[in-house]
Amino acid sequence: MIMAESAMESVRVVKSATCGRSLVFTSKFAAGKCLLEELPYAYVLCNKKRGLFCDFCLKQCSTLLRCSSCKYVRYCSRPCQKGDWKRCHKQDCKTLKRIHPRVPPDLAQLLAQIIRKQRQSPPCTQDDEDCFPTTVDQLESHHEKLSDARKDHFESLWFVLQQCIEEDVLPQPSSLVKMFGATICNSFSICDNDLNGIAVGIYLRASMLNHSCYPNCVVVFDERKLQLRTVRDVKEGDVCTISYVDVINPAKERQTELEERYHFSCNCVKCIDEINELEPDDGLGEEFRGLKKSLEQIQDAEKSQDWTKVLELCKPYLKPMDPSSSLQADHHLLVKLRDRAFDICVDTQSWEKAAQMGQLNTDPYRYHYGPYHPSLGIHLLKMGKLLLYLERLQDAREYLTEAESVLEVTHGPQHSLMLTLVQELISSCR
Ligand SMILES: [Zn+2]
Ligand SMILES: [Zn+2]
Ligand SMILES: [Zn+2]
Repeated sequence: MIMAESAMESVRVVKSATCGRSLVFTSKFAAGKCLLEELPYAYVLCNKKRGLFCDFCLKQCSTLLRCSSCKYVRYCSRPCQKGDWKRCHKQDCKTLKRIHPRVPPDLAQLLAQIIRKQRQSPPCTQDDEDCFPTTVDQLESHHEKLSDARKDHFESLWFVLQQCIEEDVLPQPSSLVKMFGATICNSFSICDNDLNGIAVGIYLRASMLNHSCYPNCVVVFDERKLQLRTVRDVKEGDVCTISYVDVINPAKERQTELEERYHFSCNCVKCIDEINELEPDDGLGEEFRGLKKSLEQIQDAEKSQDWTKVLELCKPYLKPMDPSSSLQADHHLLVKLRDRAFDICVDTQSWEKAAQMGQLNTDPYRYHYGPYHPSLGIHLLKMGKLLLYLERLQDAREYLTEAESVLEVTHGPQHSLMLTLVQELISSCR
């Protein structure tokens, strides 16, 4: 675990009767302060991303070396292969060969790692109430509140794990279900620099973070390293919060997700304000229904990879909304639809159209995510790159300069994204 001396003092664990353990700031900090850097306790690259990223360091790489034994996992270098062999692949390699051509689901692989790791670490004996946890056992699990769907999921994983793990190593279902519960509500989706989830991991220290839909911190990833950073000015003793869910979603959706996965109801300022402001007919208008239907049809067309149809379906929304429209210009579904259209335009090299789409989404992004959010920073950066490519230098410069000021706070000047992309791009449009 990487832990700079100064970072270690920025937050500490406190225990309260009502919300369990949380992290509080040990001093006042301005926005953009890195509070914590942490390497994962356990992590796996998602099966569907294999071959695009190194299984060990999670770096994106076009030429990866394949494990010559299982021919499944891939690495960017020999040191990464060695590191992973020591970390978990020595055992996993045998399993993968034995069950070939089947591959365990991501979560089964993660649980297998946790099971093996727990066996190596001695049980914790000290009073750990206000210390950082050192094993998954010490995390909140809510296993007694699992929904029926989650219970079914557990059953299927139990079946897989019996084939992956030696009988004498596999815990009893009663203790495994706790581990499963803890993994569901404490795992992080590890994102690449475009904020697409590529891996799933457990970060013991960061799992102490509380939720708010209007958080004072964000978590970002640089390959497999997690960074916790302030996005607002904070006071000593304040509780450190991140959002567990996408804050662009409306309050009701966020609350459903929080209750289902994390088993609590959110009473943050943003939730209360939004619910009080809800009009009785919100979400029932004809235009809203039309938009929702289009999104469903788009998903179907995407499944069959019919990009022409997708863009056709997006068409009515690819212009600024009519002022008489009952749909707000920053409606979250509209933003999502345009985001999809943006990505497809980029993939199909319709650069002009993509730029148009992205521009329509820029203000809604600012509105939903606030001034310092990784999603806003990445959106601005993508737009800047696109406009630079289209040789619209003035616009490109504006986007990239704003991207830099956002990313400096959310990612920090030492993040690989800042070190490479932003600086190169800004200098190329000077
Ligand atoms: Zn690597
Ligand atoms: Zn192997
Ligand atoms: Zn909330």
